[in-house]
Amino acid sequence: MSQPRVLSLLADLVRINSINPAYDNGVPEAGVVSCVRDFFTPLGLDMVEQEVWPGRNNLIVKLPGQSSRRLLLEAHMDTASINGMTIPPFEPEIRDGLMYGRGSCDTKAGLAAMMDAVASLAEQGIRPPCEVWLCAAVDEEFSFRGVLKLRENLEADAAIVAEPTELRLVVASKGVLRWRVHTRGRAAHSSKPHLGINAIENMSRLILALAEENQRLAERKHPLLGPGTTNVGVINGGVQVNFVPDSCTIEIDRRLLPGEDAAAVHAAYGRFFESLNLGAWQDAPMLADEALDTATTEPLVAAASRSLQALGLNGEPAGVPYGSDASKLARVGIPSIIFGPGSIDQAHAAVEWVDCAQVEQAAEFYKHFLVNFHA
Ligand SMILES: [Zn+2]
Repeated sequence: MSQPRVLSLLADLVRINSINPAYDNGVPEAGVVSCVRDFFTPLGLDMVEQEVWPGRNNLIVKLPGQSSRRLLLEAHMDTASINGMTIPPFEPEIRDGLMYGRGSCDTKAGLAAMMDAVASLAEQGIRPPCEVWLCAAVDEEFSFRGVLKLRENLEADAAIVAEPTELRLVVASKGVLRWRVHTRGRAAHSSKPHLGINAIENMSRLILALAEENQRLAERKHPLLGPGTTNVGVINGGVQVNFVPDSCTIEIDRRLLPGEDAAAVHAAYGRFFESLNLGAWQDAPMLADEALDTATTEPLVAAASRSLQALGLNGEPAGVPYGSDASKLARVGIPSIIFGPGSIDQAHAAVEWVDCAQVEQAAEFYKHFLVNFHA
């Protein structure tokens, strides 16, 4: 039995190392760009590249439509690092209906499904109601520079961003704010701790206060996303065991709900830490990205829901706690949803895999949607 094209395409993509260059063994996404180009070249579709950094380009494949309305399909080409992986990252293998390898789930599966859908229409000479731009983007896993370049002067009436949503129609995602907080103490010999001020102890009080604050956070819930959350993911302090430590730093990850302004949330934490009188202060955010909250009344959402139902899938709008390129497209006024095969639980994992049946279903969904969506 021959393998469906979308799966051989996915295997081809997984074989290419495209670890984000910000991580160990990272490389530019150019190998994936070549693969996508080679796949579409025989179909004669117009393709353009956008330079994001020298040697790191977004690729846009254009399928003509019956109108000047434009639908954007977007999938990132980069992957997480392979540190800690316990399977060969670049040797895609199918076992029991699952394909293994780095990026198999996040998000080469979505990219392959989108490519297969666009190619199918082109091969059959179908002009969908909207012009379709398929963008394979760089740098989603680190600083989102691919989509930020893409959205400059972009005109599009709707967008679908591929990420592992387990074939759910995702209209809402949390935003994220990350920043550092410091406490300073006074160094002293550990045999006379009363002569010093222990920065680690002060930071401990701050972390406990933050945990209490979290309980208040839990009270405000978004219907699809639940509450905002915080996580203290890194702590550094002290020099050696016989010193009273004079400094301590933590890094906080705060997940934001729709309607929360990242700068305002950051400023509020600044006031909160000050009120604790621990001599704590905070840096400017390392990362700030607001939430996605696409109205379920958008024609895009209704059409996606209809296509899912037509294929016997769940068409109910859903939310996810992780970020994606979709929020950046929504911010410039393009109604956006997230949809793709695979589960976020396998993304970035030591053993990354995707359910092959979901990859095929995702391709079917994209095809159905492209043929039926009138922006
Ligand atoms: Zn992803």
